[in-house]
Amino acid sequence: MITCTHCGKPLTDPISIQRGIGPDCWRNRLDQDRTRNGNLFGNQADFSWGIDGKILWLKDNGGPGRSLTNDMENALARIQAELDQTPINGYTIIYRDSEGVWDGVRLTRFDLQAVFLDFQWLSDGRYPHYWSQGLDVDFYWIGEKRYEDARAKVLSVAARAVG
Ligand SMILES: [Zn+2]
Repeated sequence: MITCTHCGKPLTDPISIQRGIGPDCWRNRLDQDRTRNGNLFGNQADFSWGIDGKILWLKDNGGPGRSLTNDMENALARIQAELDQTPINGYTIIYRDSEGVWDGVRLTRFDLQAVFLDFQWLSDGRYPHYWSQGLDVDFYWIGEKRYEDARAKVLSVAARAVG
C-alpha cells in the first residue's frame, strides 16, 4: 500500500500516488507556500505565447517574476488550461529566453489529467506559488535570435525525424 509521505494515510487516486502526497496535505503544502510568498503573481513568469501551425511558441517578457526558463512547467500548464482538450504535446514547443534567444522545449513527461487538476488550485486564486506536477520538461539548443530562423530549424529537424 502506498501512503502519504506527510501523514502516512493510504493514497488511493493515481495523481496523489504520483505526487506521494494526499489531497489534504497537498493543499496544506500549497497554503504554506502562499504564506511564505505573499503576492499572488509575483513568482510566476511573465510571458506571451501563441500557436503557429505545429509550433507552440513562448516569449519571456522579462519583469519581476521568475524567468520563463525557471517557470516553464507552470507556463505550459497555464497554456494547457487555456487550450482545454487540445494537448500541448502535439506541438513543437520553442521559447525565447530573457536574452532574446530561441531554444526548444521537450516534454519528458505529460499527464493531461494531472495538469488540469493542479491548474484548479491556481485558478481559485488562493495558491500563488503554484507548480504543476503534471509535466516535466527538458530544453534543447536552437540558438537563433529570429523567430523565423528558429521555426525553420525545428521544423526541418522534425521533418528529418519523421522521414
Ligand atoms: Zn497526507
